Amino acid sequence: MTNNDHTAHSAALQVAQIEEAVAETLVEARRKVEHAAHQVETAAIDAMESARACAHEAKDRAQEAIDGTVTKTRGLWRRAALAVVNWFDTAHQPDVDPAKLDRIAWLRIVPFIGLHVACVGVFFVGVSWFALAVAAFLYAIRMFAITGFYHRYFSHKAFKTSRVMQFVFGVIGASSVQRGPLWWAAHHRHHHRHSDQPGDLHSPVQHSFWRSHMGWFLTPRAFGTDDAVIPDLARYPELKFLDRFDIFVPVALAVVLFVLGGVLEEHVPSLGTSAGQLLFWGFFVSTVVLFHATVTINSLAHVWGKRRYQTRDDSRNNVWLALITFGEGWHNNHHHYPGSARQGFFWWEIDLTYYALKAMSWLGLIWDLKPVPERIKHGQRVR
Ligand SMILES: [Zn+2]
Ligand SMILES: [Zn+2]
Repeated sequence: MTNNDHTAHSAALQVAQIEEAVAETLVEARRKVEHAAHQVETAAIDAMESARACAHEAKDRAQEAIDGTVTKTRGLWRRAALAVVNWFDTAHQPDVDPAKLDRIAWLRIVPFIGLHVACVGVFFVGVSWFALAVAAFLYAIRMFAITGFYHRYFSHKAFKTSRVMQFVFGVIGASSVQRGPLWWAAHHRHHHRHSDQPGDLHSPVQHSFWRSHMGWFLTPRAFGTDDAVIPDLARYPELKFLDRFDIFVPVALAVVLFVLGGVLEEHVPSLGTSAGQLLFWGFFVSTVVLFHATVTINSLAHVWGKRRYQTRDDSRNNVWLALITFGEGWHNNHHHYPGSARQGFFWWEIDLTYYALKAMSWLGLIWDLKPVPERIKHGQRVR
């Protein structure tokens, strides 16, 4: 082999080696490109999937928020509708968030607010002696129905009577707009069990004065009637009816007064009265005064007056409250011995309700009036 041949052979060999190297590099480059392309594709797919998942999650959250708002709005409307239904029919009380049980339920108490606002009507209808006499009469008869029957009979069973008399005075009591006899008695028995203790809904010692006076029963905690506390009364369907539709009797009284006023205006003009006068003085003013006089026993009679007996509450005896509430102002006496028909324990303690009950017993309308035993009268004195 010549030198030239040798050189040519070696060059050919180098070319072959270079070709091989180039081929390898190309293969390697293709592999890398393919790998990179695969990685890009995988990343793109991952990104798409995660974007899709995000979109789904966002959609679910939005749906949840919409559902929540719809349920909330529905709940709100349902509660509002039920509050309005409860003006007329108290059978179904709404489920209330426990945190809101002691907050004033404004829509539910619109009739109570209306009762007060309506008193302004007296400035538009004028006044007459007859209208004032009707207002005073209705104050007296209804105060007696509350103190003698709602309180001493239904709540404390301080005497006995017939089913008819029980219903008649239940109706008169119900016209006072202080709810039905069962509601009243159930809450009052609860008051005696917890008087001035943490469970007492209308204690001025546990709560503010206004809460004890009227705030307590404007809240969902007090709207219902606990039948378990009044099994002796809950068995009378006629009383249950008065309790369930507690606005019926007051509205009927207002209508009767309005019509009566109109008839008297037309046929007995010398009385100087009118439909509006009997409605606004006879119903609205009389009822509002009667209401606030009654509930002073929950508020004032636990802070203002003297204590004769060492009761476990802060109840007081107060002659002024006894006069306006026909005997209920002897409230310390009453907490000392709640079962008696008489709350003025001594002859000088004026107790109009007891005198009227005594007169009814002479007529045979009621009987078995429970007296105050002598040892009770003179026991556990403060001084
Ligand atoms: Zn009391
Ligand atoms: Zn009582």
